[in-house]
Amino acid sequence: MKLPPQLTELKVRLHEINDLEMAAALLNWDQTTYMPPGGAAARGRQLATLARIAHEKQIDPALGRLLDDLRAYEDSLSPDAPDAALIRVARRDYERLSRIPAEFTAELYQHVAASYDTWSRARPANDYTAVAPFLERTLDLSRRFADFFPGYEHIADPLIDLADYGMRAATVRALFAELRQGLVPLVEQITSQPPADDRCLYQFFPEAKQRAFGAEVITALGYDWHRGRQDTTPHPFMTKFSLGDVRIAVRFDENDLTSALFSTIHEAGHAMYEQGIDAGFEGTPLASGTSSGMHESQSRLWENIVGRSRPFWEHFYPRLRATFPDQLGTTPLDTFYRAINKVERSLIRVEADEVTYNLHVILRFDLELALLEGSLAVRDLPEAWRERYRSDLGIAPPDDRNGVLQDVHWYAGLIGGAFQGYTLGNIMSAQLYDAALRAHPGIPQQIEDGEFSALRDWMREHVYRHGRALTADEILNRATGSSLDVRPYLAYLRHKYGTLYELA
Ligand code: ZN
Repeated sequence: MKLPPQLTELKVRLHEINDLEMAAALLNWDQTTYMPPGGAAARGRQLATLARIAHEKQIDPALGRLLDDLRAYEDSLSPDAPDAALIRVARRDYERLSRIPAEFTAELYQHVAASYDTWSRARPANDYTAVAPFLERTLDLSRRFADFFPGYEHIADPLIDLADYGMRAATVRALFAELRQGLVPLVEQITSQPPADDRCLYQFFPEAKQRAFGAEVITALGYDWHRGRQDTTPHPFMTKFSLGDVRIAVRFDENDLTSALFSTIHEAGHAMYEQGIDAGFEGTPLASGTSSGMHESQSRLWENIVGRSRPFWEHFYPRLRATFPDQLGTTPLDTFYRAINKVERSLIRVEADEVTYNLHVILRFDLELALLEGSLAVRDLPEAWRERYRSDLGIAPPDDRNGVLQDVHWYAGLIGGAFQGYTLGNIMSAQLYDAALRAHPGIPQQIEDGEFSALRDWMREHVYRHGRALTADEILNRATGSSLDVRPYLAYLRHKYGTLYELA
């Protein structure tokens, strides 16, 4: 079949939408890095204008007609052909956005701004009652959102679908239950032993040296500085304005060696995924990571499976010590390795270690489902939160600031689907790493030599280059021969921490 003229028109329209989104991303990046506070009001308006114009273009019925006209051409292609993927993904986006009335979006936008504002004051004041009415309305809006997609199996499905396309509440719940069953006793076993001594990490480490060391590490991993840069921000993130400009931003704490270092590796993992997308997808909806879970699988692969591994530090510890001779000169590698892998029962998700982290996520996911199902009331949420911390982590927060108020997600967006991606990512990271290892058994030795090309190239070939052309499940199945499976991740944790803590 010859190229239909509608394909060219479709691409022009998709490029325009993408250009508006990337311009908004640039304004956002500036807002969280360099913008003086006086710019805030105008910047909010400018972002709203760009979002409105992009949205009008995204739901333009003319776009829907083009996609209809292109159906015959799409059917004539192999599903793996780039044009077929482009039409398929553009149609998915169009159909989703067209179901959401403009009034709803405007109402949500206003509500989220007010909710976030209240939360930012209620959190330091430990005032759950101030945010509770906002949370009630967020819950109502979340249920209304789900109802734009009738026919769902679970009310959370349309919300989960937003971040992790194709995942269902039932599937995620079953996976998480299995993971929790393995994690709770593992945490129990580890924390019954004397805790690792991590005092070496909490000394004075000047920012400039931390920055230089972090840059050396991510350069070795394969972050492309010709198509990226790093800046400073209160909350670390990765953003991109094109496949040729993928930036990261992190926060430095001069009294904590690992906070900036591991978030630099984490954000570089996200960035390497975006930098590895097929350049032919530039400017289209295919030029993006395929799901929040798949994205986290890459940030966590590089941060944890690689960056907190023994072979990695066999290579980098002598360099780190040379950078900080006064601070680490007398600390052996063994002590440092145990310190960066310290496991403890803790209250704050973002500070949690690799083993306990998923318990923080799983309980949030379960509470989201209970709220949406109506089996948990907003007023009972703080107590339900404490209850789950007691049963899963063996500790409970003394106040809501360190409990239900700690994460921004429920106060700045919909309820349902906000958290599962973090743990799905951990699960996938182990599956993908195992598959890479089967193809290249020399990877651990390479890592010990400070060489990461075999692992990176395998990820690029099997994950990165596909962008959104394949779903997370398709990528996993093709790359590993299996759908989501918690066993490789549990095996990874049991092996690593079994060795560290000499568990039976
Ligand atoms: Zn991340």
